[in-house]
Amino acid sequence: MHEELLRLKAAAGEELAAISRISELEPFRVKYLGRKGEFTLVMRQLGQAPPEDRPRLGQLANEIKQELESAFGEREAQLSAVGGGGAPATFDLTLPGRAVPFGKLHPVTQVMDTVCAIFEGLGFAVAEGPDVEVDFYNFEALNIPPHHPARAMHDTFYISDSLLLRTHTSPMQARIMEKEQPPLRMIAPGKVYRCDSDITHTPMFHQVEGFLVDRRISFADLKGVLSVFISKMFAENTPIRFRPSFFPFTEPSAEVDIACVICSGRGCRVCKHTGWLEILGAGMIDPEVFKKVGYDPEEYSGFAFGLGIERIAMLKYGITDIRLFYENDLRFLSQF
Ligand SMILES: [Zn+2]
Repeated sequence: MHEELLRLKAAAGEELAAISRISELEPFRVKYLGRKGEFTLVMRQLGQAPPEDRPRLGQLANEIKQELESAFGEREAQLSAVGGGGAPATFDLTLPGRAVPFGKLHPVTQVMDTVCAIFEGLGFAVAEGPDVEVDFYNFEALNIPPHHPARAMHDTFYISDSLLLRTHTSPMQARIMEKEQPPLRMIAPGKVYRCDSDITHTPMFHQVEGFLVDRRISFADLKGVLSVFISKMFAENTPIRFRPSFFPFTEPSAEVDIACVICSGRGCRVCKHTGWLEILGAGMIDPEVFKKVGYDPEEYSGFAFGLGIERIAMLKYGITDIRLFYENDLRFLSQF
């Protein structure tokens, strides 16, 4: 058995020295040092040796095994250090992992989700409509007949005489009222298109149109709903004011301002020293719009409002150039 141990030691030493790839280490370990390896098999014969020889043989066996294990460890370290001697497909399990960067929702998407969630919390249902719209729903059903001067306010992308890219999400108002009967509480979020481009306008932007129709709905209901929205979107009890305005599909109409979020109403460059920022347009739905969809304006009343998502995102985050939203610069986008 003594010779057997020495033979094993020599054979294993030679084989270990010849190993040049990390992938060859594991088969070697199994062959010699594993639980069913050659070394274990020799050790099992220890019980058959004469009793007086057993301590000496046992000690020798242990020494050889330890030597072999430490030589194996050294060889493993050497091969890892040189990348397995140029061998392909080797890797170091001890290297720290590469961090996978997390994606984030676009700031416009985040604000859109927040706006929708606030109105959903107030009982409004969400409806989405087509980006390519017919002239009737985009204009005529909303009390903007052909050649009406209000059409000039919308720099429309026409696809044909009767097809266009919707200039607002208000067509959903007409589409829904045409199909359903009051009471209705809906918002219509989506992309809208206007032929316009500068630091506060892009040819495509996002809007949320909302409307509510029922019996005995008044301007006070409109103010109540918008006050709750603005409190939740910006800060609790943000001051708001209504300024008279004109939209063909609402009467009376108003533009809604909030106290400047930058200077809290004291006056700054962003609010042009007025202390107020325009945030959305709204009004009571014009009786002409109700007549177009077959509602009796004597029985029903309602309000509508429309807000630009980019505008709200710019005010909320203090962004001064709308084009930043669409340049896809990760240094900008990763801040949200
Ligand atoms: Zn200001």
